Parts: sequence; C-alpha cells; structure tokens
Amino acid sequence: MGRILSSTPPNLGGVTQGSGTGLDHLWREPGSAFQGASTADEHGGTAETTGPSGRASEKHYTVEEVASGVYAYLQPDGGWCLNNAGILTSCGEAAVIDTAATVARARTLRETVLGLAGRAPRVVVNTHFHGDHTFGNCVFADEAVIVAHEGTREQVLAAGLHLQGLWPEVEWGEVKVTPPTLLYRDRTTPAHRDIRAELIRLGPAHTSDDTIVWLPEQSVLFTGDLVMSG
Ligand SMILES: [Zn+2]
Repeated sequence: MGRILSSTPPNLGGVTQGSGTGLDHLWREPGSAFQGASTADEHGGTAETTGPSGRASEKHYTVEEVASGVYAYLQPDGGWCLNNAGILTSCGEAAVIDTAATVARARTLRETVLGLAGRAPRVVVNTHFHGDHTFGNCVFADEAVIVAHEGTREQVLAAGLHLQGLWPEVEWGEVKVTPPTLLYRDRTTPAHRDIRAELIRLGPAHTSDDTIVWLPEQSVLFTGDLVMSG
C-alpha cells in the first residue's frame, strides 16, 4: 500500500483513493475521517499550542505508523499554522521531515521522536521555507543536520521571522532562524539506516523549491504543502 502524506492548511480531511499515481491512497490533512483510517500503530498525546488569539490551549496530536518505522505526526485540524511532520526511525536512529511553527510545538515533536526512537533525530528535512515547517529547526539543530534544497536555505534566511509579524500575539517562543546546512540541487538520496529516502525538487509550486520525500520501498510520499484539499 502506498500513501501520500501532505502537510497542508487546516480543515482538510479524509483518505482518498489516488488515481494515476500508482499509489493506493492519497492521504491528506488530519480530520475526523482520517483519524479513523485503518493503520498499524497509533499513538497520541497533548501539546501546548497557541491559536491566532495567542490563547494557549490543550490540543491533541496523533502519531500514526504508516509503514515499518515510518510515522505521520499529525497536529490538530482546524487550528492555526499547524503543519504535519514525518518521522523515520530505524536501528535506534531517527529523522524528521519538517519541524513546527513554535518552539513549544517543536519540543513536543522532539519528545515524540525520543519516545519512538529513544534518541533525538540526527537528520531533519525541510520541505520548504515557510515558518510552520522551519521555525522549529532551532530545537533540533544541536543534534541534527538540516537538509533541504539549496533555494530553501536562501528563502529561510530571506524570510527570517516575517511570519511572526502576521500574528504578533502568538507565543512563538525563542525562535532562532536556523537555515538548512546540507543542501541539494535536483535530488539526493540519503539512506536513513535501512530506510531509503529520495529528496526530489519538483520545480516551482507551493514555493519555488519544494522538496518531496519519497520512500520507494514503503511507497510513502511526504509532499509538504504540495498537496492540498479542494
Ligand atoms: Zn507552506
């Protein structure tokens, strides 16, 4: 079974049959339909998150194992600036695909990885430069190499903390702009222990340099924000 895992704006939902992709399912943003999808292991927890008003609230996140050692980290639907992330674990090592918008959310993601793999991730992939995918980099950078397309590094640095200006009341935490340091141009294939992950730039789309992460042996595709509902 293959799946496309997207990290998209809220209020999307469902698991849909894919067409023309060679994949069995198109997996979109978490929603009630998605939460009920048949899967292997499923875990969850609570995280301190902050809405557009800056008001902190308890939100649940869900971790779903979609293939052996491959997890979807799903933040609540219907919220503000909430992205999904991917977690790869193998042989006691871990990698993360996209971080989160606030320091608190990124720390929760890191704690989740610790619980799954027993250690913090050594590799972090950014699918694109938007802050909900990269602001959390600073939480991981001491322990992980951050990988992205070369254009994404430039865009992270150019954007800085601009996103915070849109919601100045949000409790962002001490976000330190942390750009990727291991860059690729067209595609690269780092093997995470026994998980082969192909990083591919598809050309201008959601941003000018989006990266997708394709796991050919598991038939799992992490799309970042390239796949959106509607
Ligand atoms: Zn985006």
